[in-house]
Amino acid sequence: MRIYKEFGFEAAHFLPSAPEGHPNSRVHGHSFRAVIWLDGKVDPDTGLVMHFERFLQEIERFRVMLDHRMLNEVEGLEHPTLENITMWLWDRMKPGLPDLARIEIHRPSCHEGCVYDGPEDK
Ligand SMILES: [Zn+2]
Repeated sequence: MRIYKEFGFEAAHFLPSAPEGHPNSRVHGHSFRAVIWLDGKVDPDTGLVMHFERFLQEIERFRVMLDHRMLNEVEGLEHPTLENITMWLWDRMKPGLPDLARIEIHRPSCHEGCVYDGPEDK
């Protein structure tokens, strides 16, 4: 059974790998939307994979590390691409969310996003 929780964060970044003069090489901001998926068994006593309140608590620890930040200054996010943000979140969320199955990061205003299913994913 899969359950998910969404959250948004606003953040600035630039991409050090972008060619000089490219807009992505300059500081700019995005409204990001993240979707965190768990894949677990339904506890027959509670009828839940996980209490959403506890799920939210785990997510919140990391949302505050990204929201209203300059992502390049966040430790481990020196190259804050969508791909690196999903892997950054995965590595930090997995210990507290063992059923973590998928992380999506969307940039709705750009109509683009990234989906990561963990280290076995390509
Ligand atoms: Zn950008």
